Amino acid sequence: MTIYWDRCDLCGQYRPTRSCTIIPSLQVDIHCCAACPYRGNKCTSPTWKIEVPSTGLKTRREISSEEKERLLRELESLLKGS
Ligand SMILES: [Zn+2]
Repeated sequence: MTIYWDRCDLCGQYRPTRSCTIIPSLQVDIHCCAACPYRGNKCTSPTWKIEVPSTGLKTRREISSEEKERLLRELESLLKGS
């Protein structure tokens, strides 16, 4: 069996990964990148670009755990193409 994808260093899932912008030695998948609290704050250019409609919430420093869960579910459904 061939594994095409890398393994996310954060969640351990085998998924397509990219090198983290802040910590280049870290391989992150789109889920963890999207849920990262540094996104849009300390991290001005996340390795995974995700288009988010402007809601005027760009200045928020962190996203809530509920928001993270919602984002993860949304991304998962997108990746599954459902
Ligand atoms: Zn991950």
